[in-house]
Amino acid sequence: DMRQAVEREEFLLHYQPLICLETLRVKGFEALIRWRHPERGLVSPGEFIPVAEETGLILPIGKWVLREACTCFQKLFAKADRPCKMISVNLSGRQFSQQDIFAQVKDVLDDSGLDPRCLKLELTESVLMEDAQSAIDMLERLKSLNVQLSIDDFGTGYSSFSYLHRFPVDMLKIDRSFVSRMEEAGENREIVRTVIALAHNLGMKVIAEGVE
Ligand code: MG
Ligand code: MG
Repeated sequence: DMRQAVEREEFLLHYQPLICLETLRVKGFEALIRWRHPERGLVSPGEFIPVAEETGLILPIGKWVLREACTCFQKLFAKADRPCKMISVNLSGRQFSQQDIFAQVKDVLDDSGLDPRCLKLELTESVLMEDAQSAIDMLERLKSLNVQLSIDDFGTGYSSFSYLHRFPVDMLKIDRSFVSRMEEAGENREIVRTVIALAHNLGMKVIAEGVE
């Protein structure tokens, strides 16, 4: 079913807003995939992404997500009076390690006409740490396109602080698991506070997942 889902246009994107807590304005959106399965209805990514990763179908699916998100964003906001700042797209590990990922991103930017500064690519901590040196090399190439880069799910993988400052990333995203338990467990609040300080000291912005 998944093999045909791209051709049949069964995937769709939902856009989750990113809110600036200083101004309470929407700063951008993160594109999140859903699968409208003809028999099973809406299937969540938690259910099908692991299968897509395992089968390699994540490559055509990821390629579609990148193109769809950039094209749609450009259509919606290019002519708005108050242009929205950012569209975030998640890149999976397999996508990131593809030889032509740089060309893919560049082509999508060229074809969609999207200002590269409006595109943010999110990579999870564990993907970056798997082979930190080649990750740095690829991030630097992507950065040369003027896109923004973000570390996703920070705090859930294993971080090496010796590498953290060498990744040319603009943003760090604190995982939902720390944010959602901030109210109940005091120690999470301290962890969140510490991660924010760490990011700011490294010149990165911070996004908190799950503030809703
Ligand atoms: Mg993400
Ligand atoms: Mg997360």
